[in-house]
Amino acid sequence: MQSWIGPLRSEEIEANMMKIELTEDTQKLSREIQSLTGENVNLCYQCRKCSIGCPAVYEMTLKPHEMMRAIQLGLEEEVFQSGTVWICLSCETCNTRCPQDINIVRVIDGLRELVMSGHVDYFNPHPEIPSMHRLFLKLVERYGRIYEMGLALILNLKMVDPFKDIDMAWPMLSRGKLKLLPHKSGGVEELRRVMSKIREIEGES
Ligand code: SF4
Ligand code: SF4
Repeated sequence: MQSWIGPLRSEEIEANMMKIELTEDTQKLSREIQSLTGENVNLCYQCRKCSIGCPAVYEMTLKPHEMMRAIQLGLEEEVFQSGTVWICLSCETCNTRCPQDINIVRVIDGLRELVMSGHVDYFNPHPEIPSMHRLFLKLVERYGRIYEMGLALILNLKMVDPFKDIDMAWPMLSRGKLKLLPHKSGGVEELRRVMSKIREIEGES
């Protein structure tokens, strides 16, 4: 192991450095992401601002900036086995902090799309998350907006834990932050048309 006493000579620095070769093969994942999302992860210079602001970073095996580096290096296994794509909350904090204007959420969505295409092996530490996304969309399509109470109840029932987080529900209900019954949005019909068009386009592709 290197003892860090005094400045390193250039040959010592070279011996300690990992050699990274960027080949057609290592660039495959970043190219795929760029063609799916339009985002160029090679612009990332590892400032770490995305990870410093991320509210879910404590749960992630690969933090957002590490994810970007792993994509740049074509480390598919590390990317898809880390589970990070399922932990991201899509809150967009990282996007607003990135000095390179990379839309990191779009990159993560691109990785999710690759997973859903069925061509990559992956690990999902929270298998209930994809079904939560589907349920979320179903409720939005039905009411034109999210019905939080219904979402929480159905998820709790699916997890066979009907009273999970019940202590948080009462204060929110009493302050009017959570509604007991669903409210339909006036634009629900228009939204349904948009969603059906999206399904039609996805069916065509
Ligand atoms: S969008 Fe995802 S990666 Fe970005 S800050 Fe939010 S949780 Fe973290
Ligand atoms: S904020 Fe942008 S440039 Fe900085 S590490 Fe994250 S992705 Fe890379």
